[in-house]
Amino acid sequence: MNTSPATAPIDVPVLIVGGGPVGLTTSLFLSRAGIRSLLVEKHSDTATLPKARSINARTMEMYRQLGLEADIRAEGMEQRFRGMILWAESLSGAEIKRLAYLSSAESLRISPTPTCGCAQDLLEPILRRHAEAAAPGCLRFGVRMQDLRYGAEGASGLLVDSGSGEATPFRSRYVVAADGSQSSIRRQLGVSMVGERDVYDSVNMHFRADLTRWVDNRPAALYFIEQPELRGTFLTINGSTRWSFLVQSISHYGYKPEDFTHEFCKQLIRKAIGESDVDIEILGVGAWTASAIVADRYRDGPVFLVGDAAHEMPPTGGLGLNTGVQDAQNLAWKLAAVIRGEAGDTLLDSYDAERRVLGEFTTRVSLLNALSMGRTARQSSAVLARDGYLKERGVVFGFRYNSSALVAEADTQAPVVEDPVTQYVASATPGCRAPHAWLQQGGQKVSTIDLFGRGFVLLAGPRGQGWKAAAAAQVRPAVRGYVIGADVVDADGSWQELYGVGPCGAVLVRPDGIVAWRTPDAVADPAAALSAVLALTLGQGVVEATGQMADAAT
Ligand SMILES: Cc1cc2nc3c(=O)[nH]c(=O)nc-3n(C[C@H](O)[C@H](O)[C@H](O)COP(=O)(O)OP(=O)(O)OC[C@H]3O[C@@H](n4cnc5c(N)ncnc54)[C@H](O)[C@@H]3O)c2cc1C
Repeated sequence: MNTSPATAPIDVPVLIVGGGPVGLTTSLFLSRAGIRSLLVEKHSDTATLPKARSINARTMEMYRQLGLEADIRAEGMEQRFRGMILWAESLSGAEIKRLAYLSSAESLRISPTPTCGCAQDLLEPILRRHAEAAAPGCLRFGVRMQDLRYGAEGASGLLVDSGSGEATPFRSRYVVAADGSQSSIRRQLGVSMVGERDVYDSVNMHFRADLTRWVDNRPAALYFIEQPELRGTFLTINGSTRWSFLVQSISHYGYKPEDFTHEFCKQLIRKAIGESDVDIEILGVGAWTASAIVADRYRDGPVFLVGDAAHEMPPTGGLGLNTGVQDAQNLAWKLAAVIRGEAGDTLLDSYDAERRVLGEFTTRVSLLNALSMGRTARQSSAVLARDGYLKERGVVFGFRYNSSALVAEADTQAPVVEDPVTQYVASATPGCRAPHAWLQQGGQKVSTIDLFGRGFVLLAGPRGQGWKAAAAAQVRPAVRGYVIGADVVDADGSWQELYGVGPCGAVLVRPDGIVAWRTPDAVADPAAALSAVLALTLGQGVVEATGQMADAAT
């Protein structure tokens, strides 16, 4: 490594370590918020293995807000493959069971954009292209971060070119550790991972073969193959020529990762297809171990863990990448607010308070999904997934944050559901995702979700002009105000009930689409009320407020 002491350090507000989906999305969110960041990725390019494919509706909402939805859908698999998953004795053999996904119609009642099946090796180049366009010169592939030091004032370390070995020092106020499940930053922080390790060992074989004649009559996103001496899964990539085949619990069959030569992989894939005469080209083989573990803290001073660095979960349920992207969204607006001087440091503590509980929940759900299918190290004769599998609406949409970054209501409760995994009841109680409702704006059909994602938004009832004026008067942070019925039209008349406010009430939505505060009725001084709730949400201490506000904040 050549370190030139004369080299001036790179100085950047936020260093993002890792150019996987979560690091790339963090870069996009920070750029959207007007914050300069530098992303370093030790590999020279994005992922070569497909890995994740299920980009859930909540994540698609975020990519819709970032303007990437059309590009991602264009690379995604045909919709007919998204309708179900099935279990069979072989790809060409008898079917054991099929399970349908949430229908598009049902999904569109909850969100303006349904889940998309787009393989990670196709998604990442899209994210990279958009991130580079939004921050030219601020993404460096083939550069490793090392020798991290950090303290109250920020972080420093070295950025080492993977090819030449040339090292450049850096200084940053914050570091986002998006460095994946083997995170060296996490190790350095001394953060422990809590949960169940080594749930199963697995090999992922990425291959090219024309499987059309076995899948065309029963298109599915996943084909679970159940044979006494081989339990594996075909992952649909494009539904015709590009696939992955996953063998779970390889040690159960006495295999080691090094046994998976290209020839051996082809044999296994042919056995799972149930046909010996199939042309197969192996494109890549990756061994990995599924664990269900979550970091015991997501923040250490100026360093934040996001994505797989913060939580590792079995892919059963397709929640890993999605949870990570949503971490990035939660953290980015908070970093931006603090860097701009609009928020106090305690806002950054709310990242751990909000995201770690959810990380633990999604990890537990993913583990239960995996265990129910009996393909883990604790092998069992179970075949079919548990009931909640593929119906995780509650996990995706229904989680409610409880932190200092919102103003809780003393007298109302979010809807209580019997099963928080599968059930979602839309609610605008503070801490919930602001629900989707269709509106008309300038003759165009838009979702409430389309109004969010660029700073704070205040939605006011039809007689809420005072709130609109209060939003316009608010400078740091800026708040965009909309009066329903004037600026946007409540197309199907559902907004008011869904958001639980009267004609003079208002709802404040955070930049990540989470309800920060709401008032069902008018208040005496809307401008004072709004600045008071913003101060509370942003951790700037309690600002003198109306009586109603003081009550709401306790
Ligand atoms: C078979 C399989 C199927 C899956 N299916 C799904 C699914 O359907 N849906 C879903 O949501 N999730 C799924 N997942 C999980 C998903 O792949 C991961 O959650 C996701 O890749 C995590 O993204 P990340 O950006 O946090 O980490 P990673 O993708 O691991 O990226 C971390 C990056 O950091 C880089 N890095 C590490 N250290 C340094 C350093 N010091 N300096 C610079 N760069 C560094 C690494 O090179 C790497 O590129 C699946 C996983 C597998 C294995």
